[in-house]
Amino acid sequence: MNPLTPYKEATDVILEAGGEPLKLCYQCGLCTGTCPWNLVRNFLVRRIMHEAQLGATDFGSEDVWTCVTCRACVQRCPRGVEIIDVMRAIRRAVASLGIGIVPDALRISAKNIAGVGNPLGEAPEKRNDWAKDLGVKNFVSGTEILYFPCCVPSYDPDVKIVARSTATILNKLGIDYGLIGTGARCCGEAIRKAGYEETFQSLAQNNIALFAGGDVKTVVVSSPHCYHTFKNEYPELGGRFEVIHITQYLASLIEEGKLKLSRQVGTKKRVIYSDPCYLGRHNNVYDEPRKVLQSVPGLELMEFPDSREDGLCCGGGGGRIWMETPKGERFSDIRVEQAARKGADIIAVACPYCFLNYRDSVLSMGKADTMQVKDITEVIAEAIE
Ligand code: SF4
Ligand code: SF4
Repeated sequence: MNPLTPYKEATDVILEAGGEPLKLCYQCGLCTGTCPWNLVRNFLVRRIMHEAQLGATDFGSEDVWTCVTCRACVQRCPRGVEIIDVMRAIRRAVASLGIGIVPDALRISAKNIAGVGNPLGEAPEKRNDWAKDLGVKNFVSGTEILYFPCCVPSYDPDVKIVARSTATILNKLGIDYGLIGTGARCCGEAIRKAGYEETFQSLAQNNIALFAGGDVKTVVVSSPHCYHTFKNEYPELGGRFEVIHITQYLASLIEEGKLKLSRQVGTKKRVIYSDPCYLGRHNNVYDEPRKVLQSVPGLELMEFPDSREDGLCCGGGGGRIWMETPKGERFSDIRVEQAARKGADIIAVACPYCFLNYRDSVLSMGKADTMQVKDITEVIAEAIE
């Protein structure tokens, strides 16, 4: 084989992913100016787009793995370039065609996901162990709602609180819900953005068949990443079911008067909410998480200086949650500093990746005595009647 063949194939894949809009990129540089990486280091998005146009991508650069797929640049691009699709295609070329180096930590997570269906490398049969003492039933045909907690709350000992709080709320309200059997696999959203398209396809096919076999009509999820891929990416592979993020579900229960919050959570706690990119910018869900928090007695809801459409990513999207980010370059550290300056007692999150990153930042910055990181479901589980 001609040694240039994989490069030719890769550049074709990238040009195809960028489509017509990539050809229209006129190098205005708004993407570079918008990208949060430039708060902490140089990351020349405009140049990456230009190299992609020319078929001159540097596959060996660490820039291949930098983008957190936060969508801030896509939102601003005047030419409609799907910059994330281009980044994903570049990664795919490296991961599938072997013309560059995949970071070790990502390679291990990818291997775990392909092998046992979750990035932590845990046994599939332990997926529902978090719920053992909570009396949650298995989903059967006719059950109203399937609750899908995401791999991180299912397995990570510190993040299980998210799944457990959700189940506690649903149990108290007498909601008819269940968990899918241990045949479920990672939703695949992040591994797809990390370039592992074939792994994504296999995970999605598995879950779609499992849900269809169980006659699943409605899925409530904890993770905006599951939300995004179930809602926007599974349908083209045949996945047909309604997807609701838990914050949307809680907001609707409050609206209908079914969820009443009367217990005060501490005394005058100041809470600041961080918009997850995949709930906010990717899916326009901004109001429901705020409505839920505003319903809790004794909480004062505050906003980051940059929030909603302009919210800063926690740093965990696009597979970055599995990669090492050096101190001084962590977006979550910036966020925790902003929250501290505002005088927040709690950073409220609605995404397991945000939970992990903010928790690590609070600990590594020595702020654990004055600041807590809580998923919205934890706050609600404490406030429910
Ligand atoms: S913002 Fe869009 S048009 Fe401008 S340089 Fe970036 S990709 Fe090109
Ligand atoms: S998606 Fe976010 S991290 Fe990626 S290039 Fe755009 S602004 Fe930067």
